Amino acid sequence: MIQLQPEVLAFLDRPQPARIGARKVATGRALTILNPSDETPLAEVAACGAAEVDLAVTTAQAAFDGVWRDMLPDDRSRRLWRLAELIDAHADALGQLDALDNGKAFARARDVDAAWSARHLRYFAGWPDKIEGAVIPVNLPDRLNYTLTEPIGVCGLIAPWNYPLLMAMWKLAPALAAGNCVVLKPSEETPLSALYLADLALEAGLPPGVLNVLPGTGREAGEALVAHPGVGKIGFTGSTATGRRIAEVAGATLKRVSLELGGKAANIVFADADLEAAIPGAFGAAFGNSGQSCTAGARLYVHRSIHDRVVSGLVAQAEAISVGPGMDTVTHDLGPVISARQLDRIAGYLDRAQGTSCATGGARLSRPGWFLPPTILTDVTDDMEIAREEVFGPVLAVLPFDDVAEVCTRANATPYGLAAGLWTRDVTRARQMAARLRAGTVWINCWGETDAASPFGGIGASGYGREMGREAIALYSQTKSVWMA
Ligand code: NAD
Repeated sequence: MIQLQPEVLAFLDRPQPARIGARKVATGRALTILNPSDETPLAEVAACGAAEVDLAVTTAQAAFDGVWRDMLPDDRSRRLWRLAELIDAHADALGQLDALDNGKAFARARDVDAAWSARHLRYFAGWPDKIEGAVIPVNLPDRLNYTLTEPIGVCGLIAPWNYPLLMAMWKLAPALAAGNCVVLKPSEETPLSALYLADLALEAGLPPGVLNVLPGTGREAGEALVAHPGVGKIGFTGSTATGRRIAEVAGATLKRVSLELGGKAANIVFADADLEAAIPGAFGAAFGNSGQSCTAGARLYVHRSIHDRVVSGLVAQAEAISVGPGMDTVTHDLGPVISARQLDRIAGYLDRAQGTSCATGGARLSRPGWFLPPTILTDVTDDMEIAREEVFGPVLAVLPFDDVAEVCTRANATPYGLAAGLWTRDVTRARQMAARLRAGTVWINCWGETDAASPFGGIGASGYGREMGREAIALYSQTKSVWMA
């Protein structure tokens, strides 16, 4: 096992309270966080509820009114930039917390989750002095009309467990850069890196109350945050079912909501594709992060003429990778799934996938931890549950196709619309497919790329709103129209 950083040991050693303003607030109720790699208790965190949500929202509102909203843009930028530098300086500790908590490989937790969180924050740290309004050429004499782009106030941000720090940062960075104060509720499965981040934020000079972190369950802390009248906007990543519930609860107070939900992305390999790139690309698309990505390429459409070749390439790769705990010293490529509940859920999908053939995997490993090896199913048809529903685990459904129009229709026959991809050497076809695929992101001859500057989000059952880039600033801002005689 990789040796734990002293600050990680100290962090895990004591119950972790909520972070509200400059205070650490204990609730008297605790959540035990389990290590998915060995099923043992990893840490204890406060279980927050309506009382802590109320305190955090009031604290955030005071920080918004008294400090953050009126801080000069350059000052806000510098503090956010400093936080990004502290994330880099603490990347080992943050990476270890996410690797323990989520199960992903430490190297990825440090070099992807933590490093990209810092990069994301640096991009948005550059925004505060670029958030402009406009002067409108109105048809009234002697009147000046201009707009102000203003922050919303207090934003409630609710994060999932698949990329604990990074998904939180996708929301935090634009919300804070736009001048909002934040109450962040991390997933009850993986709250540790967010709590650690809250301490770094104070060290970076974010005024107390600008970033508050409340660990707790969705039912208690999450729902209280969504219902709170003092919250102006909810940013959420998670399941479609929870997204629907959030939109419903937020409707009562007419909060603004942005939702980044599930997916069932189609990945299409045409006969002319460079298979040297497409096979490992399709493998990574399906099994990266143990398949626990909203953009997982979980439906692989392969041209019938190359179907068997692609499947055998994928199976060879599946059988060559190592599966193990995120903190193992031996390099491994695939960690556990997040919880016993998720493993059971995935096993249920596999049990019900009658009529398919399992090319590799399919059964949990007989060792402690919630490990399922890469599982590849063939003889799948579009109407099967396994081809329609989001599994959110290391399970790939492979489906043959015959022509372009057919595969485009089949790829689009899903209520989801987060991502899609295709592999071809034909540039015209690539462009036409990119236009026709019903998804918020399309990858051509690659998979999974994101950038802080490039908009990301879904349509249909995958949610609404675009995170990242200038659209994320708009997501956390509102426009005021000012008239002057
Ligand atoms: P979830 O949607 O229930 O949880 C995500 C977050 O929402 C957590 O912080 C949770 O505490 C919170 N939450 C839950 N119920 C809430 C409520 N009523 N009000 C406010 N907040 C609430 O997801 P899950 O149960 O952890 O995972 C179930 C499925 O969700 C997965 O199998 C997968 O399909 C999907 N998922 C998708 C993503 C994604 O990136 N799109 C991430 C995680 C999970």
